This record gives sequence, C-alpha cells and structure tokens, in this order.
Amino acid sequence: METLAYGFPKLGEKREFKNLLENYWKGKISEEDLIKGMNALRDWMVGLYKDAVDLFPSNELSYYDFMLDTAIMVGAVPSRFGEFKGLSTYFEMARGSQALEMTKYFNTNYHYLVPELEGTNFKLLKNYPLEEYLYFKSKGIETLPKIISPYTFLKLSKALVKGSSPLPVYYLSKIEKLEDLERYLLALLPVYEEVLKQLRQEGAKVVLFEDPALCYEMESQEWDLVHEMYKRLSEHADIYVLTYYDSVSDYKRFVDLPVKALGLDLVSNTENLENIRKHGFPSDKKLIAGIINGRQVWRASLVEKIRLAEDLLKHAQHLIISNSCPLFHLPVSIQPEEDLPVGLKERLAFAKEKLQELNLIKRAIEGDQQARMMVEKVENIVRTPFGVNEEVRRKVRALTERDFQRELDYKERIKLQQEILRLPTFPTTTIGSFPQTEEVRKMRASYSAGKVSQKEYEEFIKKQIQHVIRVQEEIGLDVLVHGEFERTDMVEFFAQKLEGIATTKHGWVLSYGSRVYRPPIIYGDVYRPSPMTLKEITYAQSLTEKPVKGMLTGPVTILNWSYYREDIPKKEIAYQIALALLEEVKDLEKAGIKIIQIDEPAFREGAPIKRKDWDEYFDWAVKAFRLCSRANPQTQIHTHMCYSEFNDVIEYIYQMDFDVISIEASRSKGEIISAFEKFKGWDRQIGIGVYDIHSPAVPTKESIRSILERAMKVLPKELLWVNPDCGLKTRRWEEVVPSLKNMVEVAQELREKYATV
Ligand code: GLN
Ligand code: ZN
Repeated sequence: METLAYGFPKLGEKREFKNLLENYWKGKISEEDLIKGMNALRDWMVGLYKDAVDLFPSNELSYYDFMLDTAIMVGAVPSRFGEFKGLSTYFEMARGSQALEMTKYFNTNYHYLVPELEGTNFKLLKNYPLEEYLYFKSKGIETLPKIISPYTFLKLSKALVKGSSPLPVYYLSKIEKLEDLERYLLALLPVYEEVLKQLRQEGAKVVLFEDPALCYEMESQEWDLVHEMYKRLSEHADIYVLTYYDSVSDYKRFVDLPVKALGLDLVSNTENLENIRKHGFPSDKKLIAGIINGRQVWRASLVEKIRLAEDLLKHAQHLIISNSCPLFHLPVSIQPEEDLPVGLKERLAFAKEKLQELNLIKRAIEGDQQARMMVEKVENIVRTPFGVNEEVRRKVRALTERDFQRELDYKERIKLQQEILRLPTFPTTTIGSFPQTEEVRKMRASYSAGKVSQKEYEEFIKKQIQHVIRVQEEIGLDVLVHGEFERTDMVEFFAQKLEGIATTKHGWVLSYGSRVYRPPIIYGDVYRPSPMTLKEITYAQSLTEKPVKGMLTGPVTILNWSYYREDIPKKEIAYQIALALLEEVKDLEKAGIKIIQIDEPAFREGAPIKRKDWDEYFDWAVKAFRLCSRANPQTQIHTHMCYSEFNDVIEYIYQMDFDVISIEASRSKGEIISAFEKFKGWDRQIGIGVYDIHSPAVPTKESIRSILERAMKVLPKELLWVNPDCGLKTRRWEEVVPSLKNMVEVAQELREKYATV
C-alpha cells in the first residue's frame, strides 16, 4: 500500500502567498522576488508532502489559478489580451479590466477563471507542468506532474458562439453539444500529447490527471470520447486519474479507462464504495482511494479508515490511499489556534494534520506500535458526543409545514408593502456593504485585539453609519443600507454571534487569486444568545426617513461557507441556523424595520454535482430560507445572489418566496437575462446587477442603461430594481460615489422615459 496526497493549500503558514502577490501588484517587490518567494512556497509544500506520504504532485503552485494556467498552457489567450507576454498578460487575464469571468469550482467556494475559447487553434504556449517538474528534479525530488484533464478543462470552459436577440452578436457559452466537445477535444489533444512527450523526455513517468468532471452525469458517447482521450494520452505517460467531489457517473466505464491508476472519492458519496464492492476493481490497475476528507476539518476515526483500507485491499491488488479531494479547501494547520471552545481543537484536522492521518493509517496497517497507540487515542476523542443542545433539537423536531409558509401570497403581500414603502418604479438600492477603508479595518482589528474600548468602537461605527446614510441620501438612492462596517465577513460576523459555531484566528483559505477568508466551524447545535444586528440597523434607520434594509446572511450561505459537523444531517443544521435568524427577523420587525435582506450568494454552490440529487438539496435549502424569512406580510423580504450559474436553478430560486431578489449579471452578460426568458410567469421583483463591482472602473450611463433595456425585453419594467451586482466593500469611495450617481440618474431617466413615478 502507498499513500498519495494532492492539492495542499499553497497559502503558506503565514499567508505568504497572499502577501507576495499583493506586494508584487503594488509594485513593492520585483518579479524576481516574486518568483523567489513562490519557489520558497513550492519547497515548503513539497517538503511537507515528502515527510508524510509516498507520492505527491508538482505543478500545484499556480500564481493565480490552475484553470488559468491550463488555458495559457494550451494557448487559449483571448485576442483582446494581445500576444502573451508572461506575467503581465497573466495578471491581465486574471484581474485586469477585461479579466476572464470567474465562477465557482464545482460545488465549492473556490473560484476559478473560466477559460474563453475563441476557436480551436490550440498550441503549447507554456509547459508549466514541465517547468515545475524540472524545478524539483534539479533538487533530486521526484514528483508527479499534475494537470487538469482536457475533458474537465473543456467542461469548465466557455466557447464563443453566435447569438441572436436579445443576446449580443457573439457571446460565451458552455460547450453543450457532443460534436462540439469532440471538435475541441481533438484540437486540444495534440497539445497535451506534446506536454506529456516533453515530460517523458525529462524523465517523468507518471502524470496525474485531475478529472472531476467525470462526476457530472454523462452520456455514453461522452464516455467514448473520454476513453479515446486517455487511450491517446496513455501512449506518452503512465496516467493516474483523480476524480473528486462525488461518485463517478459510470463506474464501469470509469474503471475501464486505459490508464494505470484510478482515483475515487470515497467520502462525499456512498456509490463509489458500493460499486467497488459490487463490481470489483480491475487487477491490472491501481486504486487511489480518497478516504481522508479533503473538505471538512474533522479528525477522522482512524479505526474506521483502517478497516476501510483493509477492506479495499481485498478488492484492489494495488492500493494507494489518499485525500478525498484537493486539500486546498482546508486551512494549513490547526496548530496555531489558541482560542477555540474547550474540547474542539483536539477534534480538528486541517491540511497538515490530514497528511499525518494518511501517514498514520499506513503505519498502523503495517503494524507500527506507536501508530497503533495513536489510533486508539484519537478514537476516544472522536467517539464522544460534542456540542449537543436538547432545546435546539426539540425546536427543529417541532417544525411543521406552516413554519415554512408566509401568511399571505406574494400578490397580496406586495400591495401591503407598497402602501407602506411607496417606492418609485425602477427603485434604486445597493447590496449592503460600502467601502471598507483602511481606517475601518484598522479600527476593527484594534477592537478585536482589545486595544480599543467597546464604547470607542461603537462610536466609530456610528460615525461610519452617519456618513454612509448621508452619502446615500445625497446620491438619491431609494432604499438605504447601513454599510456593514462592523462586519469582517458576512458569514464570520454571524458565526461570532451564534452559539455552536466557532471561528478561527489563522484558518485562512483562498477563495480566488489572493483573496482569503476564514470559514467558521459549525461544531454544535446552533442558537442565538442575543440580537446580532439590531443595534446598527435601528441606529441607521433613526437617521433617515427612507427605508433602511435589515441585512442578514442566509442559513444556506452560513452553512455552505462554513465547515459543518457530520453527525447530523445538513438539513438539520440549516434549520437550526434558520430558526436563529428568524428570531433576528422578528426583532428587526419589532424595531420598525420594513425591508429585510437575507443574502444567499452560496445558495447555488451547495447543490450536488449530479442533477438527480438536486431536488433533495433544494428542498431543504429552499425551506431553510423560507423558515428564516417568515416575516409579517408587510415586511418586504429581499435576497441577493451572485457569482454562480443561476440559469439552471431559477425554478428553485423562485420557490424561496422572497419579494425581491438582486442577482449578479454583469460579468456573465446576457445569460441570466435569457434564463428569465425561458421561465414563464416570473412575477417577483428583481434587480439585475447593472455593473460589476469587481472592477474599479466607473460604469458609464450607457452601459447601465443597456443592461436595463435588455432586461426590459424579457421582464416587465414594473418588476425591475436598479442596483450594483454585489456589495461595495472592496471598492473605494472615489469609485463608488460616481458609479452610484450614474446609476441613479439612469433610473430617473427611465422613469421619465416611461412616464411612470
Ligand atoms: N450584503 C453583502 C455585501 O454587500 C453581500 C455580499 C455577497 O453577496 N457576497 O457585502
Ligand atoms: Zn454578492
């Protein structure tokens, strides 16, 4: 038996990766220093692997994103970037004013850059896998170059296609048709073959192919293509295929692929294991068994894992045990955490500790006494129940259908709401946060470090709120927000206020580029000890006649952006959080708040990979939202979603029964609008994001108008709200004010044009 690990978080022990990149972008360090720093991180990562496992990859230290690297490797650099000139073009594509679209990697919170294919003219532009392989080889370290498979690459890419009204002339779309997929694949294969040839020349025997798209539901002809693909690639290397996040869509076709080793995720699903037991595993191939959870932070029951590995040894002649999916969903190490609730730390394992688990399992199976003792010790810890609150459980058990249903239908509610709110057509608003300046961040940090008193801090926040209310009134927005200055992060903020959820100090994870966040850890039954947002929202409302939105993060998003316990169903955790949020909603109503926005940007990403599993997920996800938003009929419930593919889930979104939704649309242009074309009978109010808040550029009135005019072709104008596509916290005031002014002016012009008030 061997051990393999992959996908280790590249962030570094002290977020070195982030600092390097940001210092380089700010011009504080040279390209040479950047490369040096990145190499140090490479050495560190591979050093950790080397000490713990037998097999480990190279080509894992992308400077921004591995999908971007793959696109560049095969020469898919869109023409607007001109000729590829190294790092400058690289970062233009990643984060320039015309950067590639960004979206979530499968059902995770990692965002990748979507390759844009302008045609089938691929060529080997940069052999990144070779470069890294050679880097380590020169140090005498043998690694397995790791590459995204051509199939997964194409499934996650978008290709330029010709559109017809209301879409632009050319737009980007996923490659859906089999014949198109085949055409692109055939064009792409020679490039991959060249990569492999060059690798082989330099001595690389085994190459790891990441192919998680094999977990999507696939037609049999697609499997034919994949089979052919691996047949050709196998002529140039010993190929190990990794799949993860779900079971492979067709086990028999998968194990029949002409490769040397096959990787299966045995944690996220039960099908893979059932299939191994039922159909066996080919004796001429190696099984890479993903048995250590790469997405959750719990220490594994090693007794259970050893039993599993021993069982697998009966089915597979060659067994390699591994993590279930890339480890970059985890923080680097649990070691530096000092302030966790008593008893929690010893139950946790982050990436480094997961490597140790693989190491321990192997040693214990081989009879190492010390390892066996360790296994026993862990077992005692993970077996004892933790964080139970009987009252919370009772409340969840007592829920009935009525708890998920608002008193009146939308049509009735909206009349009551309009009587109170008296909003004009094309009402204008923002998504919630306003610029988090250096000053704001410093103040929050000083407060949490105990350097500033609570009183001083609260005064400071009040000043920020006063300012943001004044600015919004001056701009002429219709529905105001308090600005979210007291929040580090929309999930972490609530996690800190709720019982049963822990937050970490150092548990950073990359979500894209250099952006990091600290996912909270839901370890026990969740409840709300006291109001969470009431003070700031009511203060903001006291300063203005205009409605201020109460601002909450939804239960599905809190859950999906946290690590969560595995001893009770996800659905139950969602309901627990929803009940806590409902208490907040009730308190806000009592305090006179008329509009409450419950953000659910992660609503879509929690959806299982396979559509057949969607109904079950969305059933409880929708219900969790409805549970927490069961407000009085006259309270207007808003929600917000962004940066996901929403087109195929609009039906579920509609079931959430909100009154107003704001949804991002500006990076993926017309697509979301066309989804509403297909959805018959959409009657909810909707704000299609009229500009991209990720760009520092001030949107022109023309561009804002054109999005609204396009939306009006599909949706009744009475339903439309006017807002940016997400919160403004990453922007600067100098950008925000003129952008919002343009937005408000367009709304006013449209009101005049259509002669409505
Ligand atoms: N209300 C949040 C904000 O404005 C929403 C953020 C998000 O959707 N990611 O920042
Ligand atoms: Zn958003």
